[in-house]
Amino acid sequence: MFTARRTQRSKVCEDEGVGVMPDCIFCKIVNGDIPSTRVFENEYVFAFRDISPQAPVHILVVPKDHIASSIAELSEDNSHFAAKCLEAIAIIAKNEKLSGGFRVISNSGPDSGQTVSHLHFHILGGKPLGAGLVNN
Ligand code: 5GP
Ligand code: ZN
Repeated sequence: MFTARRTQRSKVCEDEGVGVMPDCIFCKIVNGDIPSTRVFENEYVFAFRDISPQAPVHILVVPKDHIASSIAELSEDNSHFAAKCLEAIAIIAKNEKLSGGFRVISNSGPDSGQTVSHLHFHILGGKPLGAGLVNN
C-alpha cells in the first residue's frame, strides 16, 4: 500500500474556495491520511486501486479537491475538474495496457449504489466485461 504524500492544493481550488470535506474517505486518501495504492497523480487528479476490485483492473479516479459529491453536482463552474479526470483516464488506460478496452462508471445517488460522496470514476478492465451494464 502506498501512502499518498501530502500535496499542495491546486491554485484553481484555492481561488475557488473548494477543498477538503471532513470525514470524506477519498479526501483522506488524497491527503495520505488513509493509505492507498496510487497509480496516477497530477495537480488536479489522484487515482488509486479500488480496495474491493470488481475486475482485474479496477481503479478509482478522483479530483483531488472535493468539488462535487457526484456528477449530479457538476455545472459550468466545476466541470473542468471532471474533464481533468477523463484526461487522466486516457493516460491510465495506456499505462495499464488496457488496449482491449475498458469501462468507465460514475455512480451518482442512491439508485446507482454510490457509497462515497466524492466525485469519482471507476475504470474497469483487464478482461472482457460483457455487454450488460446493469445487473437485474
Ligand atoms: P461507489 O460505490 O461510491 O461508486 O464507489 C466507491 C468505491 O470505493 C467502491 O468500489 C469501494 O470498494 C471503494 N472504496 C471504499 N473505501 C475505500 C478505501 O478505503 N480504499 C480504496 N482503495 N477503495 C475504497
Ligand atoms: Zn472528498
